[in-house]
Amino acid sequence: MAISFNPHQKLDFKEVSYDPVRSTKAFSMIEDNAIGEDRPRTSDTRIISPEYLSEDMSTDSLRPLDFQEFLGQSELKDKMKVFIQAANQRKEALDHVLLAGPPGLGKTTFAKIISNEMKANFVITSGPAIERQGDLAAILTNLAPRDVLFIDEIHRLRLPVEEVLYSAMEDYKLDIVVGKGPEARTLRLDLPPFTLVGATTQAGKLSAPLRDRFGILGDFEYYTTEELAKIIRRSAQILKIEIEKDASLEISRRSRGTPRIANRLLRRVRDVAQVEGLEKIPQAIAGKALEMLKVTSHGLDRLDMRILEVLHDKFEGNPVGLSTLAISVAEDEETIAEVCEPFLIQLGMIERTPRGRQITAAGRRYLQDWKS
Ligand code: ADP
Repeated sequence: MAISFNPHQKLDFKEVSYDPVRSTKAFSMIEDNAIGEDRPRTSDTRIISPEYLSEDMSTDSLRPLDFQEFLGQSELKDKMKVFIQAANQRKEALDHVLLAGPPGLGKTTFAKIISNEMKANFVITSGPAIERQGDLAAILTNLAPRDVLFIDEIHRLRLPVEEVLYSAMEDYKLDIVVGKGPEARTLRLDLPPFTLVGATTQAGKLSAPLRDRFGILGDFEYYTTEELAKIIRRSAQILKIEIEKDASLEISRRSRGTPRIANRLLRRVRDVAQVEGLEKIPQAIAGKALEMLKVTSHGLDRLDMRILEVLHDKFEGNPVGLSTLAISVAEDEETIAEVCEPFLIQLGMIERTPRGRQITAAGRRYLQDWKS
């Protein structure tokens, strides 16, 4: 079953329609882009944004459908294959899975692959979209045994909604209060054994009781240049674009370790090659197109450079709190915390100290080179 939940749309029991035929079609929902509706989560709409932008709709067909096509994240993949095989052999639901990592690294894709491998339905929603306990109750009571329920941005669930999940995850029971005041009674309903796959970009924000109910924890890492180059070549093949290996490496170096950005940059580079009348993308054209888009050698752009500049020049290398930093670069805190900071930390250009964010020696060097 594939359901689209719009955060602005109230969901009641009637609105949840169960359609087993449509549901088993791989990616029916994601191809409809229903998950894209409430994205981007932040105001980040840059070319190198890892957020889902409307222009990414045209690359939804690039989502891998099984573990073989899903490149990288090998450790997590290997672990998951074993757990899925074991659950399939026992004909049981897979244990609940928490996927954590920055946006655009493939968490949604991975969750969908889990449901494909389980030969189960995939039900998709997101934390902010579930406004009331009743919304979640409606979703849970419509699940079939072994279904995979995917909750994106699970750290943004409201507490009363989250509390409904506790017994649902632990005992497959749903406690609902019927009536009000002295008349109120609690009803306990049985749920089918299901798998909750939660995705979060901010694992630290998850409450301990919720976190403890996940049996499998999977951390997503940024992809290596070689892994991303392979993803780019796979995407090029699907999009019928001819690309030289060096050109795929050039794009991958500037894609911030993120497949979503790599796919987007590939399409932009293709445009430039096409206008130049080239049938195959060479490295020089990839480089030229990315320079034109003002994506630096490490995939940093004006906003990242502004962060380094502010930390270095304005605050003279001293630690700075998130809100002050966000105000100084005129950007919202979430974009800084979820998008810019993790990647700058990964590159070793800034570090998080108990007193705030601080530029490192590597960051200073990169800034100086960029300015000269
Ligand atoms: P997230 O849920 O972490 O924000 P998504 O699962 O939506 O990320 O992935 C973003 C895009 O990147 C997808 O459209 C998919 O095509 C591509 N992608 C992600 N991971 C991989 C991978 N391992 N191999 C190939 N393509 C990938």
